[in-house]
Amino acid sequence: MAKKQFQAESKRLLDMMIHSIYTQKEIFLRELISNASDAIDKLYYKALTDDKLTFNKEDYYIKVTADKAGRTLTITDTGIGMTQEELENNLGVIAKSGSLAFKNENELKDGHNIIGQFGVGFYAAFMVADVVTVTTKAVGSDQAYKWESEGADGYTIVPGEKDSTGTEIVLKIKENTEDDQYDEFLEEYRLKAIIKKYSDFIRYPIKMDVKGQ
Ligand code: ADP
Ligand code: MG
Repeated sequence: MAKKQFQAESKRLLDMMIHSIYTQKEIFLRELISNASDAIDKLYYKALTDDKLTFNKEDYYIKVTADKAGRTLTITDTGIGMTQEELENNLGVIAKSGSLAFKNENELKDGHNIIGQFGVGFYAAFMVADVVTVTTKAVGSDQAYKWESEGADGYTIVPGEKDSTGTEIVLKIKENTEDDQYDEFLEEYRLKAIIKKYSDFIRYPIKMDVKGQ
């Protein structure tokens, strides 16, 4: 299927993400965990008012899985998921709260110092990944969809496979270069430290599984 192009503003932000300096790269995990938590909140509140949804507290969690051999880092949530249309609207454009705050500040021409402070959103994944694959199944739907992108040159959306409601984001972690290290984002101690630093306040359990340690 044809590749769709990101909107111009999304492209600018993506470009900034990809060229961000080393110390800011770790915040990608904060952004993805915060989105996972927001998605669980949405399902949680929906379940409060919808008799058809009966969930236990244990059903709500976020999982971070690293596979060193495959160089993938996967963030899974049991949240509300996205329909095909929501995937298109939410991940194809930058118009969301955090990203907007960042963009306005950025007019001050000091983008690099700003990335770490503001919620920059989903695109932060491209600071550490060269392919991002989002497989998601919306609550009440029995069809999953897969969004995939290698960054600046656009994204695809196709039907996907997923058993349960929620979202799974797979990051294909970049190879180390002379200037930039990425291997550490597959290390349990490093992932734990990042979660402790930025996501200590998240009110759902964050489970971790590292393969090939
Ligand atoms: P923000 O979180 O500030 O809205 P993001 O760029 O982080 O901006 O995310 C954009 C949108 O994509 C979110 O508002 C949400 O609608 C959707 N989204 C991102 N991650 C998930 C997820 N794990 N589950 C459901 N929806 C998500
Ligand atoms: Mg966000």
